[in-house]
Amino acid sequence: MEKASRAGVIAEDLVVGGSDMNASEADNQAVSTAFIGLGSNLGNPVAQLEAAVNALAQLPGVALRDVSGLYASPPMGPQDQPDYINAVACIATTLTPVGLLSGLKALERASGRLVTRHWGERILDLDILAYAECVLATPELTIPHPGISQRRFVVEPWLEIAPDARLPDGTKVAELATGLTDHPLRFVKQLDLSDLSGETHKSDHEIVKADRSSGGLL
Ligand code: AMP
Repeated sequence: MEKASRAGVIAEDLVVGGSDMNASEADNQAVSTAFIGLGSNLGNPVAQLEAAVNALAQLPGVALRDVSGLYASPPMGPQDQPDYINAVACIATTLTPVGLLSGLKALERASGRLVTRHWGERILDLDILAYAECVLATPELTIPHPGISQRRFVVEPWLEIAPDARLPDGTKVAELATGLTDHPLRFVKQLDLSDLSGETHKSDHEIVKADRSSGGLL
């Protein structure tokens, strides 16, 4: 499939009920499309983002559908820290938004991330940018991510893999790109999906099965 049709529609939730499932399993477990922002500016950010994309692809209930190139830009917060490397990934998931956030936090912890100052340096930062048509504002989780519209390092990589993406209120992500005033991005590297784990090629049926076999731990 072409990139744009694979990753371009956040509104489209797939419903899976396959011939390899029994009647009780085929209960229309939804597979939602979500976009994840990845960032790092400590250690070896390129290697950490590559590892994070691999780890994301292996989370139970998640399949990687696409990932943008890696881009460098100066930090948003305190300037006495290294430049960031960022990317955006498109996933298909059976996890709920809160379940997905727990999975992402587990990956951040596994990377060795320590809590530092606000907008401070970090080994790995994983954000849910958008999750299907979900709109959520709780102390723990805001979807769509509130920082999207000011962040070139989110908007431009997102458009690379999903040029037609829209937020749940109908705003085109491409429209956000016109108002960005932050620093231009420097292209660093394209990730080759075929170099990543075989888990990247999970079908929707396989995501549902893996999610069930994880016992709902995520
Ligand atoms: P950060 O410093 O970017 O890792 O974010 C810290 C906290 O933001 C996390 O512990 C989450 O509880 C919260 N948060 C709120 N909305 C989101 C979102 N859309 N994606 C990721 N974290 C979020």
